[in-house]
Amino acid sequence: MPPRTCDIVIVGTGPAGLGAAFRLTERTPAPAIIMVDRERVSSGGLLNDCKQNYTFPIGFATDSWTKEEAERLLPRVENCLKPEIKEKRHLSIYRRRAERLGVTLLDVRQAHVGTDRSRDLIRRLVTELEARGVAFLLSREVTDVFDGPDGVGIVIDGTETVRARKVIVAPGRKGFDFLQEIMERLSVPYIDNIVDVGVRIETTLSNYPIVNDYYDPKFLFPGGVRTFCTNSGHARVVLEKYQKFSLVNGHALSTAQASNDLVNFALLKTIGLKDPVRSGHQMAVYLARLANEIGGGRPLMQRVGDFRMGKRSTLETFNDDLYAFPPSCPVTAGDLGLAVPAKIMRTIWAALKKLDTIVPGVLHPSTIMYYPEIKMYANKPAFLDGHFRVSGNVYMAGDGAGTSRGITGAWASGIRAAEGIMEAIR
Ligand SMILES: Cc1cc2nc3c(=O)[nH]c(=O)nc-3n(C[C@H](O)[C@H](O)[C@H](O)COP(=O)(O)OP(=O)(O)OC[C@H]3O[C@@H](n4cnc5c(N)ncnc54)[C@H](O)[C@@H]3O)c2cc1C
Repeated sequence: MPPRTCDIVIVGTGPAGLGAAFRLTERTPAPAIIMVDRERVSSGGLLNDCKQNYTFPIGFATDSWTKEEAERLLPRVENCLKPEIKEKRHLSIYRRRAERLGVTLLDVRQAHVGTDRSRDLIRRLVTELEARGVAFLLSREVTDVFDGPDGVGIVIDGTETVRARKVIVAPGRKGFDFLQEIMERLSVPYIDNIVDVGVRIETTLSNYPIVNDYYDPKFLFPGGVRTFCTNSGHARVVLEKYQKFSLVNGHALSTAQASNDLVNFALLKTIGLKDPVRSGHQMAVYLARLANEIGGGRPLMQRVGDFRMGKRSTLETFNDDLYAFPPSCPVTAGDLGLAVPAKIMRTIWAALKKLDTIVPGVLHPSTIMYYPEIKMYANKPAFLDGHFRVSGNVYMAGDGAGTSRGITGAWASGIRAAEGIMEAIR
């Protein structure tokens, strides 16, 4: 079979890949684009929950972005995703309370689609791109990317070659190993020294009512701890499954669904590892595997009341009888103290105590802490220019390449790569 050919091939149909495709097809005539994904629909945050943050630096990797550059592109992101921005109330009151404790509360423009509605959004985006001539190859895995004297392109499922003038690789966080393999094969130097480690908190709406005023409040605490990805309405903690372990995450349904009166959010601490450390990703894997080992193959959960008393939680305490609510993601009841490195746990606990002063109630004894919630962001290639080019004709963008940490940042990263290509093939 002769190889397929096109102008630009995009690996990954997450927000980074879609952002690139929308920007590239603004030009007439539009270049011939093929997008490839190993899933049937784009996975990741567009599909799960789909909260969108439209304020820098949320969702952006600040070492790759200036405020001005992000603010130039965010309106373009908004133009494609067409968000309904949520209103906030009483922000100045919460801010005053936070500032007294040395905590910052960011004012972020936000929208929330909800897991039940996100497929409609993805369908609309894909249909629009198809109408602009973009071809989608779904349920197909890219196994190689090449860029050399014999040409530029990708290999799908180990057998089929697609030749192109330019390639954008945007495989997200789950494409971490794939991206590293490609970087090694293309001799692209990279660093992998940052990891976010933390817990996911689950409590009742009455214990964390701030979410009625501010959907996903972004608190920055001393010690590099921040709140992240708050979900309410019909909210659930979920497992994020990898080959040898599971992490926890959270999502919520749209406002069309009845509330389950639960709230969940992550408290994450950013760890910047220094020489001679080899890999933040490996550290994350070890931490995750330790927690899953202690949890008998699953993450751990512990009630705040038990944690305070220095004793492990047991399954019997996770009921409606003694405490207020059963967990939305029943994992293994245990002792986080055995699994979370002490330094990380101390900083997170200090942040939680401050949060409980700002929003009294969140440290109710029934509140559940789940672990591990880990974000393996940085797998950062040495970029050759401001458009995330890593070799003559290959660009790497999105969460997998460490240029973003969320939907809008990933989308904007795709636009930046696309603009580099538009300049190059003008
Ligand atoms: C459960 C969950 C909930 C989240 N909720 C939010 C949220 O509400 N708001 C927010 O801003 N962020 C959220 N995020 C984070 C968000 O998903 C990411 O920041 C964003 O999707 C990154 O975009 P991306 O395009 O870089 O990667 P992704 O969205 O991960 O897309 C990468 C795509 O590449 C494909 N791929 C990978 N390797 C290959 C390969 N070898 N061949 C072919 N295809 C491949 C994958 O299947 C995937 O579809 C969430 C993440 C998770 C896991």
